[in-house]
Amino acid sequence: MKMSRLMNETVREAPSGTEVKGHELLLRAGFVRQVAAGVFSYLHLGQRTLQKLETIMRQEMDALSGQEIKMPLVHPAALWQASGRWYEIDAELGRLLDRNGRSLTLALSHEETLAELARQEIHSYRQLPQMAYHIQTKWRDDPRPRAGLIRSREFTMLDSYSLDADDAGLEAQYQAHFAAYFRIFARCGLPVLAVEADVGMMGGTLAHEFMYLTPIGEDTLLLCDGCGYRANRQVATFRKPEQSGDVQTVQFVAELVHGEEKMERVVTAVLAQHAQLNETKLVHLLDAQRVRPTAEQATDIWVVDDGVDGWTSPADIVADIAAAQEGDACANCGQPLRTVRAVEVANIFKLGTRYSRTMGATFVDENDEARPIVMGSYGIGVTRLLACLAEQHHDAAGLCWPVAVAPYQVHLLALRGGEETAVIFYQKLQQAGVEVLFDDREARPGVKFNDADLIGLPLRLTVSERSLAAGGVEVKVRDGGETAVLPLDDLLNHVTSWLAEAS
Ligand SMILES: [Zn+2]
Repeated sequence: MKMSRLMNETVREAPSGTEVKGHELLLRAGFVRQVAAGVFSYLHLGQRTLQKLETIMRQEMDALSGQEIKMPLVHPAALWQASGRWYEIDAELGRLLDRNGRSLTLALSHEETLAELARQEIHSYRQLPQMAYHIQTKWRDDPRPRAGLIRSREFTMLDSYSLDADDAGLEAQYQAHFAAYFRIFARCGLPVLAVEADVGMMGGTLAHEFMYLTPIGEDTLLLCDGCGYRANRQVATFRKPEQSGDVQTVQFVAELVHGEEKMERVVTAVLAQHAQLNETKLVHLLDAQRVRPTAEQATDIWVVDDGVDGWTSPADIVADIAAAQEGDACANCGQPLRTVRAVEVANIFKLGTRYSRTMGATFVDENDEARPIVMGSYGIGVTRLLACLAEQHHDAAGLCWPVAVAPYQVHLLALRGGEETAVIFYQKLQQAGVEVLFDDREARPGVKFNDADLIGLPLRLTVSERSLAAGGVEVKVRDGGETAVLPLDDLLNHVTSWLAEAS
């Protein structure tokens, strides 16, 4: 690709309101442009990297015997009403009416669509197990989109869905995804760790999140250096200290949902003096205990943390509702827990029969009995991964892409006196299968060097009168490499073998 043919130019100054360095560089280097709050266009370079990420994902999903499919962005509301999520999820779910007044939703995820497919297509245990995946746009109307692609409203995900006859089958597919996700992130060049997580709005019985540790993250993780325990703060447990007897109460308005019924109820949480309320634990508890909005239960609900001693007044529920904090003792080994910030880049859920039961996705087993299909769902944020890679791989001058995910492998710069040779090499490199971004613009050398650093392709080749006089082409590795002049005869071999080694 010739840079003179690109629609956009690089930008010198960081756009105002850009709070995250990686996102600032993606904007300045011309990878993305904002269209609306949390909505982006991907320019040519950004789209190239997204395609590389998707290729890696497709390879790893295919290796799990996944079948690639594509489900729609727009769903009939009836599917989401059948699963109950139409009522459970509030304004984050995009809702619209078609011309005939029928309610539709924009995909926030695809559990309902996949369960409906399974209901129609799967009839017998002989058809199981199955795994289907797709890479598709989602819409989640986040009230606070921030940090560019890290928390956007429109985003792209790889999501896959496993269908099994029993829990053992689900466990096998869950573990296979667990391992495949580590391979995907390693190939893309993003360090991650997996933590126990909240099942959240997906529902189900077990979930793990894949976390990229970074100070810009909005999630807090609790890590134990003693035994390796790691969990999202939303679910982290800890050993509660002997407490002095003083308690605090925290009032919390919970929206209780049952089918189409919704009711707000005041929940009073009782905790030890220095403890913090974990709202996620509390909400799940209310859900799990089937505290439902009924006319008879008009009073407040009292929930007492199990770390409180000597509570004599009435309590509706006694359970763990406290948030683990830095320095709290690990529940397994007693060592102090440590907190770190992280961005969630993927999650995997054991859905069990949460969707297949409500949506009627059953199969007939060996004994001719109908049973609900056991489901898992798995997702990686593709556009969020692009943002995290920019966060992980940059320096003061710009982005520094790993070879596997760089939009192009080589940045070829033609300077004064080197134009003709550069055109010849542009063609030769392309013929050899090397992906080249060719800076053929009429611009000063300083502008071209700055742009090459900002865009961050792995290898920079500069052809100029001076390099030719010194015997060839100047080669520089973007990520901390020295420059060297290589003779023209050697160049092609050098570039292809360097790329092969660095990939
Ligand atoms: Zn521990």
